[in-house]
Amino acid sequence: MKLPEIKGFMDFSLVDWDGKASAVIFLPFCNFQCPFCYNTTLVLRPETMQRIPYNEIARYLSKNRSWLDGVAITGGEPTIHKELPNLCKRIKKLDLSVKLDTNGSNSAMMKKLIAQEFVDYVALDVKAPLTLERYSAVIGINAENLLPEIEETIRMLLQGSVDYEFRTTLVPTLHRKEDIEEICHKIIGCKKYFLQNFKGDVETLDPKYMNFKPFSSTCIQEFLKDARRLVPTAFLR
Ligand code: SF4
Repeated sequence: MKLPEIKGFMDFSLVDWDGKASAVIFLPFCNFQCPFCYNTTLVLRPETMQRIPYNEIARYLSKNRSWLDGVAITGGEPTIHKELPNLCKRIKKLDLSVKLDTNGSNSAMMKKLIAQEFVDYVALDVKAPLTLERYSAVIGINAENLLPEIEETIRMLLQGSVDYEFRTTLVPTLHRKEDIEEICHKIIGCKKYFLQNFKGDVETLDPKYMNFKPFSSTCIQEFLKDARRLVPTAFLR
């Protein structure tokens, strides 16, 4: 059973899956080029990172599964790897839950993972209002063929049975106040929506974002207030 190349592994995290003790697997490459992305090496130069054999990870997971709740699979963008279902299946066989971080651009992969019960929790980044102009500006490439996929993944999660959250990282110069309302109109009724402030001071895909300051806490509180008018399950993370 062919598995995707694994380029990073964290043996323990309390922050990658709310309320759960998880291990984290990092898969390389991404089909977006978000200028504010922090995972520069994983996205742009994964060949410079060492490959981690899954067998080593499996040994660790088997040994520690009595206290680990699950494994978060992140990237890069995990759904661009056609072998992703095999990886999820192997983890589920160890009796561990699987969380998937995704940009939502592969609805067919998501459908397959959900249908086969290979995923227990999905965190989907809704990067911007779902219009060609706004999404393309935030993800750094033309979003024309991606938007229908993202909309379909959002719909699938809203109407489906798998647990999920939507989230948006708010980036100065890229996001504006009115974006929150536009995004929220598309996710009304969702289980959870998290707003995250851009961190700053870390290496970013476009180096100029490294020097950007995050939004002020007053600004972020305003965004949250706007979000809660339409989505009462909105929170700050
Ligand atoms: S932030 Fe954007 S470029 Fe970076 S991994 Fe996520 S979707 Fe890909």
